[in-house]
This record gives sequence, structure tokens and C-alpha cells, in this order.
Amino acid sequence: MKLNVKEALDSARDTRALLIDRDILEQVSGLFKANFEGRKAVVVCDETTWKVAGEKVYECMKKEGMTEIEPFIYDEPKPYAEFGNVEKLEASLKKHNAIPVVVGAGTLNDLTKLAAARADRPYMCVATAASMDGYTAFGASITFRGAKQTFSCPAPQAVLADVEIIRQAPSLMTASGYADLFAKVTAGADWIISDALEVEPIDPRAWSIVQDGLKEALADPEGAKNGELTAITPLVEGLILGGFAMQWSQTSRPASGAEHQFSHLWNMEHHTHEGETPSHGFQVGIATLAVTRLYEKMLQTPLDLLDVEACCEQWDEWPVWEQKIKEKFQDTDFLETALTQTQNKYIGKDALREQLMTLKTTWPELKERLTEQLVPSEEVEKRLLAVGAPVESEQIGISRERLKESFYRASYIRSRFTVLDIALRTGNLDRWLNEIFE
Ligand SMILES: [Zn+2]
Repeated sequence: MKLNVKEALDSARDTRALLIDRDILEQVSGLFKANFEGRKAVVVCDETTWKVAGEKVYECMKKEGMTEIEPFIYDEPKPYAEFGNVEKLEASLKKHNAIPVVVGAGTLNDLTKLAAARADRPYMCVATAASMDGYTAFGASITFRGAKQTFSCPAPQAVLADVEIIRQAPSLMTASGYADLFAKVTAGADWIISDALEVEPIDPRAWSIVQDGLKEALADPEGAKNGELTAITPLVEGLILGGFAMQWSQTSRPASGAEHQFSHLWNMEHHTHEGETPSHGFQVGIATLAVTRLYEKMLQTPLDLLDVEACCEQWDEWPVWEQKIKEKFQDTDFLETALTQTQNKYIGKDALREQLMTLKTTWPELKERLTEQLVPSEEVEKRLLAVGAPVESEQIGISRERLKESFYRASYIRSRFTVLDIALRTGNLDRWLNEIFE
């Protein structure tokens, strides 16, 4: 394991142990014993992951006398991340006191994370795909009463990632994870802006956990697509590190910026394409490309010459914002969210003047930092194509018109300060979007 991964593990608050290597599945019983001495395990999987690794994990644990309970297997190849499935597992867990060992990727991990927390138990995860950054994140993304929500619950106490198994996962899953990792580039840029404008300072430790090895982990999309170990291993590490940074800073800021807000928005709008919710990574990948293009417009704008007074002049008082938000979101079931989240970051004209003066005076330096952080949009597109991820929003069922509108809507649903807020506060969003979508 690389030193930075070890150091990151020390920063994690929930996760105490991590094994990443090839052909290590048999170490599952040793890892379990080291973490849950004296306890028994129950293997959790679905029909697919049972075949991929679940059965082997179960046999290993059984041989060592660590499991006496029948595995919990969701009786469908692809269970949904919905609350009913959490309740099924929770009810089963409450019949014994074994520690869940989930064998699977995003959905199974989220179901188990929440069910284990509700049964007041830690859990362990055996990862089967490099498909998203949620393995070691605290919180589970579950559909409850028709709406996707993030439930607060601890990350796994121990994680085993056998890259030999992960590299054989369907390449679309890897593509999804790669796109989710790419999002850390724009997420980092948003944090740089927030830091420069003294909205949210960069936490150096969380920053370095996510960003230090990021460019390297994204270097070989073809290799990732083809399941080459040299590309898959850093990808898995990168996705797991994002979760550790979140555990360290107790916020998703290190791993999530404007691009994730697009995905949250589409989930809140109950977006589906061909009957399914597009994968988290694919949504985030499309948004990362879109946000990168917005950044490029920003970098072409001489913000050191910004007319701050004109910006303050066009800046509305809160009641006007409130009215606009009501008009925009009156037909949704998340109007309240949009109102509170936007109000949390709303500032009056005086504070805006001060903030934009800071932007203006620090722009040459900020521009340099952002240029260094970002990857040019043609390169983002090239690499997403190379890994097999979508690059046109229509591929995930979002028309270009809706993508454009999403830039406006996404900024309202999270209080997190991003490039979208800069675009709005400097009065540039309309112009930049018209240029992008001309
Ligand atoms: Zn993500």
C-alpha cells in the first residue's frame, strides 16, 4: 500500500483497516478477526456478487469458524438502493448479533451501511468494482418515499479491495468510477475559489489525501477500461481516499463540488433514462465536463477588471431571490430545500462588494491556481471517451437545453459555494452559458 494511502487511513474516523492488493480475498477472515475479535460474521450480497466473490468469502469465513449464519442474499441480480431493501436487511440483522460483511459495490454497500447503523453495528466491506467513491464515505444514498436522500451513517470499519476481482468487473462500472474520480478535479477547483474568497478554507490534510495522487490515478483511462492492474489499482485507491478525506474533515467538500450538485439535482428531479437512474459516476462525469467548460469561460474573463459596483447593482435583495426560487421550484418536492440551502449562502450587497473586491485583487494568483488545478475540457472529454463513459448529456437522457438550465438550478439546491456562485455573483452566468451552448 502506498504511503499516502496509509497516512490517509490514519486520518479516517470510522475506517480502521484497509487492504488493497491482488489475490487477497482469502485474507478476509484475518482482516475480520483483527477488527471484530470474538464476533461472528454474516455475509451480505446479491445474486451477482455471490458468484463474483461472495461464495468464496463465505467459505473462507466458515472454514475459520467465523460465520455460522446463512448468508443474506438479496434475491435479485440487481437490488435497488431503496429503503425497503434497507429494512429487509435490518430486520434480518436484528435476529442475531453477527457483523455484516458486505460483498458488492455502491448499492449493496449503501444498503448495508444504513442497515448496520440502524441495527447499531459496525460493518466490513469487500469491494467488487471501482464504480463510485462511496465505499469509505460516511452516509448512504438511499431512495426514501420516492426521493433519493443521503442518510447519515458511519463508513465501514474495515475494507478489503481485491483488485484482481475489481478489474474483472463490467467495464461500464469502472468507467463510472473513473468519471466520479475525475470530479475531484473540479471539486478541488471549487474549494480553491472558496478558500481564496475566505468562504471555506482548504483543510491541507483533506486536500492532500484527495489531490496528491489524483492526476496520476486518472492518467490511464484505456488501461482502466481494459482492466489493467496498473490503472485499476490507483483508481481504486483514489476512490477510497475520497471517503477518507470526508471522514477526516466531516464534510463532503474534499470530494464534491458543483459537478456533484448537478447529479444531486437530477436525482431530486427523479430523473431516469430508459427506465433506470443513470449511474452516479456517469451523471457526475457529464457534469464535470460541463463545469470544466464554465471554468474555461471564467478563466477567459478578465476578472481583475471586474466592475464591482455594477455587480452589486444587479444583485437582488433576499425577498426577490425567495420569489424567484419559488417560481423556479414550485412544481417540485424540494422547494424548501432550495430555499434554505440558498439562504444559507446568500449574502447582502455590502458583503458581496467585499467578496468581489477580494476576487478582483486576487484574480491573477487565483487564475494561476485554477489553471494548474483544472484539466482542459477537450482532454476531459478525450479521457471520458477512452474509459467508455458518456460525454454528451443526451447519453444519460438530459437534453442540452436541460443541461443548460441545470447550471441555474444546481446552484440553488446546496449551500456549498462553487464556480456557479461566482458566475452568478459576477453577473456572468447568462453570457458564459450562451457562449458554451451557442
Ligand atoms: Zn461521487
